[in-house]
Amino acid sequence: MHTRENVPLAPLTTLKVGGPARFFVEASTIAEVSEAVQLSRARNLPLFVLGGGSNVVVSDSGWPGLVLKIAIPGIEERNHDGKSLFEVGAGEDWDKFVARAVARNCAGVECLSGIPGSVGGTPVQNVGAYGQEVAETIQSVLAFDLRRGQVQELCSEACGFSYRTSIFNSTEQGRFIILRVTYALDPEGKPRMQYADLKKYFAGWGESPTLAQTRDAVRTIRATKGMLISAGDEDCRSAGSFFKNPVLSNEQYRTLAARAEAKNLQIPTYPALDAMKKVSAAWLVEHSGFAKGYGRGSVGISRKHALAIVNRGEATAADVVAFKQQIQQRVEDIWGIHLVPEPVFVGF
Ligand SMILES: Cc1cc2nc3c(=O)[nH]c(=O)nc-3n(C[C@H](O)[C@H](O)[C@H](O)COP(=O)(O)OP(=O)(O)OC[C@H]3O[C@@H](n4cnc5c(N)ncnc54)[C@H](O)[C@@H]3O)c2cc1C
Repeated sequence: MHTRENVPLAPLTTLKVGGPARFFVEASTIAEVSEAVQLSRARNLPLFVLGGGSNVVVSDSGWPGLVLKIAIPGIEERNHDGKSLFEVGAGEDWDKFVARAVARNCAGVECLSGIPGSVGGTPVQNVGAYGQEVAETIQSVLAFDLRRGQVQELCSEACGFSYRTSIFNSTEQGRFIILRVTYALDPEGKPRMQYADLKKYFAGWGESPTLAQTRDAVRTIRATKGMLISAGDEDCRSAGSFFKNPVLSNEQYRTLAARAEAKNLQIPTYPALDAMKKVSAAWLVEHSGFAKGYGRGSVGISRKHALAIVNRGEATAADVVAFKQQIQQRVEDIWGIHLVPEPVFVGF
């Protein structure tokens, strides 16, 4: 195991802000993960586990302890009970796995193509997009339990998945290091065709699209929204959606609707959001004076997506946080709703 010192973290994230890691280890095996944990304990270093860095905002002062980047490789496939089980190393690139599953004609993750980051990052916030989420296909998660100091297999139920949530980012945050994830996919299954954007894309097609065509469509749609990382496109120098869609009580919804009516506006409805009593955070942001392309020096809103805060150049983490707070304050003043950020704040 090779320990490095003062390693810049910004290049290891998609938002590209933040300072260095005091100590940094990249672990490609479970033994190396265990060794790094021992090192952090022996030297009393706070531990932060990094995947692909696509859902983090690193502070300008960086991380004072040990950053452990998970690089465990491997995609293995086997059949069980009519399902195709894929055991995937936490360090694998998520979209590489999606591409493999689709090439093997296995359904269950095709709509999640183009989400950046690692396989190990996907259970953490139960990633979801275009009508699918990983909770539907994760069969189990192999994890290093820092509390017990041992490797443990967690079944899907034990992961406590719900919207953008699992035990890994809520009740048991910081307890588990995800080493491997097993996904149960449907061999020869049909693509998920639930989301309005996807239905629109395929409207008028004579036959139902294949898994590969669905994956391509998702990637094309994502690219138009700056949600597909492409080199040189500053609209995707972001951490993805910066705020979660708020879940409202009936009372809160009535208040919001009344405020909208007073402004001659109508809150947009989307079946996927309505089912969970959620409102669109993007709509709230846009109707609080932060249109797509809004700029504030080196930070701004993506020209393609109202929910993405982008680094337009030399932004610092402090710039991002100040801008985030300005948006939260304005949305709260105008709509009475507190927006909760989606990315993880590291070293603040
Ligand atoms: C352009 C763009 C588009 C995006 N689109 C979507 C989307 O459509 N849907 C969606 O849900 N998300 C989306 N995201 C957010 C992000 O890509 C996902 O949350 C992704 O799964 C994060 O994985 P990561 O490996 O990059 O995690 P990181 O950013 O490295 O880490 C995020 C959190 O997970 C923890 N973590 C990471 N790996 C492990 C591990 N092996 N063990 C324990 N903890 C770990 C970290 O400690 C941290 O708390 C998008 C982001 C960007 C930049």
